[in-house]
Amino acid sequence: MSFRYPPSMRHLINELSKLPSIGEKSAARLAYHLLAKDIPLARSLASSLVEAAENTKLCVHCFFLTEADACSLCTDGQRDRHSLCVVEKPADVFALERSGGFRGVYHVLHGVWSPLKGMGPEQTKMGQLMSRLSRASKGEAQQDDPLQEKPSEMILATGATVEGDATALYLANVASELEISVTRIAQGIPKGGDLEYADELTLNLSLEGRRKI
Ligand SMILES: [Zn+2]
Repeated sequence: MSFRYPPSMRHLINELSKLPSIGEKSAARLAYHLLAKDIPLARSLASSLVEAAENTKLCVHCFFLTEADACSLCTDGQRDRHSLCVVEKPADVFALERSGGFRGVYHVLHGVWSPLKGMGPEQTKMGQLMSRLSRASKGEAQQDDPLQEKPSEMILATGATVEGDATALYLANVASELEISVTRIAQGIPKGGDLEYADELTLNLSLEGRRKI
């Protein structure tokens, strides 16, 4: 007779395996740990998962994570509203904030241009970025934008991948009509590299070494 996990453990392993970088073996290890009679941990983990998933939404301005309409970065009066940094995902904002090298505001794309994976500009927040920039460049931000955004520089901080480069080029082309300086972070990030995993020094050097495209 072949070995089978008890049904509820099998279900837990299946669910855990759906998480990024968790394979079947890691999922089984986590499940053993959770089921080792640690009921309080299992309960608090389950409730914090549901709480975070239900309360966290995307900022209406920059699409970073927030529990209010606007995120804490957009509503921070100390941020420089002339400098707008475009990243692929919320984790990249955390990485850049950890590095401390950027004091402007962000726009999170939630994806990159990747035709092979069925990701085009319309599957990401690229359209919202363009309307954000064109509103600001026409001065309309003065009337309807509580943040009073006036970006004069857009820093393209998508990853150093083929898709990240293609996305940066696409955005630079679309933004070329607007009176805004477009820069790309320097490639101190290794090729194929992900901002999320870069160390603080690399991120800072990469920001400082950004160049016009
Ligand atoms: Zn925001």
